[in-house]
Order: sequence, then structure tokens, then C-alpha cells
Amino acid sequence: MTGSDISNILLIVGLTLVYDSISMGEVYSMAYYINDDCISCGACESECPVSCISEGDGKYVIDGDACIECGACVGVCPVDAPQPE
Ligand code: SF4
Ligand code: SF4
Repeated sequence: MTGSDISNILLIVGLTLVYDSISMGEVYSMAYYINDDCISCGACESECPVSCISEGDGKYVIDGDACIECGACVGVCPVDAPQPE
């Protein structure tokens, strides 16, 4: 086996691991959501680094597709309304 063969094998293994980790992330990704304890104070909206929190009907809501699960909203909420799904 040549050095080139070994390099190709390592490349394939590396790409497979990257693909698996991306797939696992999609399967096990858990966005946050805001439960009914929300008192609509608005404190979390400006804390979100990806601006995925907005005022909804009676409470604030999180766009689960955009949430990166950083937890910043949890730290500022006075009633612990943001929760992991
Ligand atoms: S967990 Fe982070 S990204 Fe998700 S809604 Fe809260 S602040 Fe935004
Ligand atoms: S900080 Fe908490 S109570 Fe205030 S709007 Fe966000 S989720 Fe609702």
C-alpha cells in the first residue's frame, strides 16, 4: 500500500465522519421554544444572536428552524419560559 493509498483512505474516513456528524446534528437538534409562562416582557428578543425571537399572540415565540440552541434567552427570562424542545 502506497502513501497515496493511505491518504485516500484517511480522506474517505474523514469525509464519512463529517457527513455522519452533520446528519446526527439534524436528527438530534433541539431548538428552544417558549412555554405559556411567558409574560411578554420582551427581554429575550434582543438577547438572541440570530434574532429568531419575536412577539406572538399572547406570548413571545421562537423560530425553531433558526434557533442555534445557545441558551441566551433562558438567562434573561424572569420566568424561565424558554425551554429546550
Ligand atoms: S436558544 Fe439562543 S438562538 Fe435559540 S432562541 Fe434562545 S437566544 Fe435565540
Ligand atoms: S424573557 Fe421570558 S417572559 Fe420575557 S418575553 Fe422572553 S420568554 Fe417571555
